[in-house]
Amino acid sequence: MSLSFGRDLYLTPGPSVMPDSVLAAMMRAAPSIYDGPIVDLTESIVTDLKTIAGTRHQLAMYIANGHGAWEAALENVFAPGEKALVVHTGNFAQSWANVAERMGIEVSYLHFGTDRAADAAVLAETLRADATHGIKAVFCTQTDTASSASNDIPALRAALDAAGHPALLMVDCVASFACERFEMDAWGVDVMLTASQKGLMCPPGIAYVFYNEKAEARARPKPDRAPYWDWTDRANPGLYYQYFFGTTPTHLLYAQREALNLLLAEGMENVFRRHEIFAQAVWAAVEAWGTAGPLRLNVANRAHRSRAVTAVRAKGVDCFALQKWLRHKTGLTLGKPIGFDTPEFGNGAHAFRIGHMGHMNPPMLLGGLSSLQAGLIACGIAHGAGGVDAAVQVIAANA
Ligand SMILES: *Cc1c(COP(=O)(O)O)cnc(C)c1O
Repeated sequence: MSLSFGRDLYLTPGPSVMPDSVLAAMMRAAPSIYDGPIVDLTESIVTDLKTIAGTRHQLAMYIANGHGAWEAALENVFAPGEKALVVHTGNFAQSWANVAERMGIEVSYLHFGTDRAADAAVLAETLRADATHGIKAVFCTQTDTASSASNDIPALRAALDAAGHPALLMVDCVASFACERFEMDAWGVDVMLTASQKGLMCPPGIAYVFYNEKAEARARPKPDRAPYWDWTDRANPGLYYQYFFGTTPTHLLYAQREALNLLLAEGMENVFRRHEIFAQAVWAAVEAWGTAGPLRLNVANRAHRSRAVTAVRAKGVDCFALQKWLRHKTGLTLGKPIGFDTPEFGNGAHAFRIGHMGHMNPPMLLGGLSSLQAGLIACGIAHGAGGVDAAVQVIAANA
């Protein structure tokens, strides 16, 4: 018996749920891309994204997903053979590094495991040892979407400063942008990238790369950069088509405008607080379930946890069967595990992820957690009592 009649729920860490008004904003004819309202609309998106990013500097936009944002940022900063240091806290840092390696960048790693944030003291020590300042940039994720560990970006900045190292600091905020606080200029971040389909509540398709003057000054010489990825004209277009180096993604821009309207109407402080409360509700549920049986939060240290996504380990449990049950019986889709493909985690079978980013309210979140608890029962997965109630208490106490 499937009870899945009604609106399906996706608690995946992207693409996230799109608000109805965002969907509706795209239901219209194509505009003129020569002049008129689309020009002002594009400018207004740039302005508002810079506000949310906490920067007065540059924003280059691309028709791309997060992988495109990775390549765009790397292409502008690095020539082949130059050195990058990757602060590794999960699979997404690794995937970005893989792109860098394929581009001929010499990558070295600081591994911090896949269940915690980076240790800034280790970064400072590593940079001090780089006496010739061969490392051109340090890159990391704010939230690693696979491990759900979140880095303390100001602490990493302080490590670069303490070491007196001139490397650029480049941060991937695809999972965390517009979910968790980020202050590019105040935190001294030189390059930050994100994409439209997570906290920004839009279809995948627009990648955003923010950069400051220091990044431009240290960047790869302009003539060497691939023309499509060069950020210069995109950030300062003399002609409208230069924003996207070709036809603009018109309908994605309508969607993004509406999503920004929603975020700004709610107020970013409220948006961050809402994500904080939802994260705490998820943690409370998983901790209660974990009082008996194998379910555990992947990131044990509260201070190291993402507010946008939560990875859950379940040693010995067939989480694929659980996810299948949830999808077919209830209409709930959870995030697949990424980076748990070791024998210890059943080659990926003993983990799942809960996305709690973007367009979400308590009925959605609590409905999802309740369905998940039903799945635990139906699939015979041992768990402590009171998971849903623990989440309900968090919502009641904070709303
Ligand atoms: C989703 C994500 C990406 C990749 O985005 P795609 O659109 O899937 O290419 C990169 N980094 C982080 C932290 C992400 O969460």
